Amino acid sequence: MVYLSCCYNNSSFGQFTGADNPGFMKPDILISEVGLRDGLQNIAATMPTADKQAWIAAQYAAGCREMEVGSFVPRKLLPQLADTGEIVRYATGLEGLCVAVLAPNPRGLRDAVAHGAHKVTLPFSMSETHSLKNVNRTHARMLAEIRACTEYLQGLPAEARPHFEVSLSTAFGCTLEGPVPESRVLAMAEAVTALGVDEVSLSDTTGYGNPRQLKRLVLGIREACGRDKLQGVHLHNTRGQGLANALMAVELGLTTLDSSLGGIGGCPFAPGASGNIVTEDLVFLLESMGLSTGIDLAALIEVRELVAAALPDVELFGFTPDAGIPMGYRAA
Ligand code: ZN
Repeated sequence: MVYLSCCYNNSSFGQFTGADNPGFMKPDILISEVGLRDGLQNIAATMPTADKQAWIAAQYAAGCREMEVGSFVPRKLLPQLADTGEIVRYATGLEGLCVAVLAPNPRGLRDAVAHGAHKVTLPFSMSETHSLKNVNRTHARMLAEIRACTEYLQGLPAEARPHFEVSLSTAFGCTLEGPVPESRVLAMAEAVTALGVDEVSLSDTTGYGNPRQLKRLVLGIREACGRDKLQGVHLHNTRGQGLANALMAVELGLTTLDSSLGGIGGCPFAPGASGNIVTEDLVFLLESMGLSTGIDLAALIEVRELVAAALPDVELFGFTPDAGIPMGYRAA
């Protein structure tokens, strides 16, 4: 079966307008696998390119239809992701897979476009202290760069234009600033929407978030920017709140959830805690509630063996893989 992917609402990608495909079925929730980017960038080891390709192929075969496969940043900053261009080229050969990447600035965006990525996410830290420390940019400078990005994209022919998302990172709190005012998050969401980005997403970079906070932010952004401008959340499980927050997101009608196979990457501040929410546990949660993801849970759990073999020193998390799929489990 071929599933429609990130580009649900992006008609510029002919191959993703799956409605013409007789086997087409849209899942209720699109899971965006971010282990190859958020997971791998947070571990010391560098996964060989061939192993990354095998991981992508196996998870695609298990039914995953969106993967964030790398980041277009200077090689010296993140040597683990230095092969992003090659990985994007490989992944775009898999029919119906939405190939997403991160790009921190207009230069990274141009690289992403040159390599044919379908979706590009630019992280924008809601904590100015974090933004200065991480990318040496004030909020004003970030907004100027986002404007440069949308202007560049508008100059491209429609078929060459990726879906462009700004991720509102540290939206739930910051390790440097502490609480981040919700009014600021809403104001920034409105500002970047006015600059013409396709979508904003909410990112709990630090794992500070709770479900009620998530609800206020989602409802606030919908009111400020329009319902179609917010479809997804990027959640971390640093304090064990990841699935509770994911459930709230789903109950509010969000349709894209980021997660990482085996929760790889961990969290340097909380030993024993996974980084992102664990894809296997998220698939179990959603499917057992009757929400389809398009992902075969048993096949997904098998992908872990390949990742564990390629990264022998990296801890893989997940309750469902450890406990096993329960007797009588039925996918949605
Ligand atoms: Zn993250």
